[in-house]
Amino acid sequence: CGIVGYIGDKMAAPFLIDGLKKLEYRGYDSAGIAVIDSADLKVVKSEGKIKILEEKLQGELPKGSLGIGHTRWATHGKPSDVNAHPHEDCTGDFIVVHNGIIENYLEIKEWLEEQGHKFKSETDTEVIPHLIEHYYDGDLFETVKKVVNMLKGSFALGVITKREPDCIIAARKSSPLIVGIGEGENYIASDIPAILQHTRKVYILEDEEMAKITKENIELCKFNGEKVEKEVFEVKWDA
Ligand code: GLU
Repeated sequence: CGIVGYIGDKMAAPFLIDGLKKLEYRGYDSAGIAVIDSADLKVVKSEGKIKILEEKLQGELPKGSLGIGHTRWATHGKPSDVNAHPHEDCTGDFIVVHNGIIENYLEIKEWLEEQGHKFKSETDTEVIPHLIEHYYDGDLFETVKKVVNMLKGSFALGVITKREPDCIIAARKSSPLIVGIGEGENYIASDIPAILQHTRKVYILEDEEMAKITKENIELCKFNGEKVEKEVFEVKWDA
């Protein structure tokens, strides 16, 4: 339902929590964040309101300046701690937040289970981190490019990995996603209000477009690999 992400020099968690609160108006049943601090990854998620997630964190926000967050509106699998996003693969290295519905998740899940993958949740989303782990060849951007072309349905994705703790991959198909442009820091969000306090400069992703986002750079392309040059959109209104 709601997606946020941060990469820069500040702590990611305060932005993630605050950004998710700004998206609360959309409605949700669970919330969660994942933060990477060099090789250290922390995922905290919970059914219920963001307040419950904050209680779970007990005022100790995970350190690390790379992270993604999500508020879930369940479509596949009941609202629960396990079904809340972010989701991870078996190794726990690849982390995904997802808005939308993966229509062909059952056949992908069966195939992955045959390959030995073990699933924890009932969600359609969980096939995505497992697919990424399965195809990972040392380049997250290229791997996600391959994986999004295997998915049917609608999705906005935020992907991070412990193995490349210097980027966020964002991808969109039939579900909104924007990239916020900062100075020495960048953002992703499913809607502008989440980032408006931090920047007014955004790239609005179109269908079948994706981005590799680092602290200093944003690289855009289509799902077919074609490079995309995009005008920066200036948000003129206030939230
Ligand atoms: N289909 C996914 C799920 O049920 C994502 C739902 C959403 O957009 O929040 O977990």
